[in-house]
Amino acid sequence: MTHFLHRKLDSNLPIAARGEGCYIFDTTGKRYLDASGGAAVACLGHSHPAVIEAVIQQIKTLPSAHTSFFTTEPSEALADYLVSRAPEGISRFLTVSDGSVAVETALKLARQYWIERGKPERKMIISRRQSYHGNTLGALSVGGNERRRAPYSPLLSDCVTFIDPCFEYRFKHDGESSEEYGLRAANLLEMEILALGPDNVGAFIAETVVGATTGCVAAAPGYFKRIREICDKYEVLLILDEIMSGMGRTGTLFACEQEGITPDIATVAKGLGGGYQPIGGVFASKKVMDALEAGSNALANGHTYMGHSVACAAALAVQKVIEQDGLLDRVQTLGKQFEQKLISRFGDHPHVGDIRGRGFFWALELVADRNTKETFEPKQKLNELIKTEAQDRGMACYPSGGTADGVRGDHILFAPPYIITESQLDDIVDITAESLNAALSAINKKA
Ligand code: PMP
Repeated sequence: MTHFLHRKLDSNLPIAARGEGCYIFDTTGKRYLDASGGAAVACLGHSHPAVIEAVIQQIKTLPSAHTSFFTTEPSEALADYLVSRAPEGISRFLTVSDGSVAVETALKLARQYWIERGKPERKMIISRRQSYHGNTLGALSVGGNERRRAPYSPLLSDCVTFIDPCFEYRFKHDGESSEEYGLRAANLLEMEILALGPDNVGAFIAETVVGATTGCVAAAPGYFKRIREICDKYEVLLILDEIMSGMGRTGTLFACEQEGITPDIATVAKGLGGGYQPIGGVFASKKVMDALEAGSNALANGHTYMGHSVACAAALAVQKVIEQDGLLDRVQTLGKQFEQKLISRFGDHPHVGDIRGRGFFWALELVADRNTKETFEPKQKLNELIKTEAQDRGMACYPSGGTADGVRGDHILFAPPYIITESQLDDIVDITAESLNAALSAINKKA
């Protein structure tokens, strides 16, 4: 019997034994193509020699040193590297242990900003339905993923309100252009700020491209420009969560570069360390830092593993490989080819309602009826069946449910390593088609 506390207590998972490029091998020798890099993590695959070497060197030199006593070369070098490549206005960077803690840190930084400015009443955070920002209680409080919130709702903050997401497939009206919809969706933020009273609102948080909750939903054109305008007008801080979509996943180092805006605070994680170390990060703008400097001149919040040396060394190595090997261009070019492959295989599929994404961040939304966009019944567990069928066929991808409204709907998410080849992308498409059709026939047989 296992003593590991598994996500499903009775699960009989294969034992992952080693990784090589885009593949994971289990202890029986079976090979799995990692089509989603776990949860959009393994951006360089599983055996990159430069990153492994950087980890070995750092752990031999100095595993970690506490940030209240020392600074370290890897943490300074990583911050220099990333801030110099960040959107205009970003001035500082801090690493923490994972994505959820990055979001906690971002929320606390926003709170501290308003305290330093003498406006503690600006305590409200506005977020969006159908979003995810992490599983620690603060991050979960600002998350709009109903299924993940439900069991913990008594413990969550009541300083959070939600507006609808920008989700064209589900929310755009017939006859409305994408631009009109983007504007209408963004204006929901202004309405919410006015309803709460601008003097009570501290920050708005959003995933630049929504990840696992709805499946790779980028905003409609103009949405984030208008969001930035509204935040500026009412002095509300804009926090962008790029934990899934950042660090090259969508084809640019920061997903918000494609929106032409700079956040006041941003979070990253997964592709930051590529899975070689657990690490998350928070970027703060000069505006936020100026308020802290003029006030307490200190960060009010701390964690033991901030600036962890091995984690920072690994992340720096990952980021250098991305740049030196021209992987952002590769994500853009091969990402377009992947899009074409998905469209040509699934564009006419009776149960694929939408194919969406950017770079190497793509999803298929699955529907029972393409005309009405009616979902499958959640109890049919379509997404779980697809996951099992794919894994049986030697591929790990990331299907999820609740796509449409938090309860109903299914999608399959792909986030392959940036080093994936064109023929491996063909394999993803082939195995997905087989797995989807096998899952659908299992459902039909039961019906
Ligand atoms: N924000 C987003 C957008 C995420 O996708 C995730 C992880 N799926 C998190 C936050 C939380 O990150 P972690 O699981 O590393 O705590």
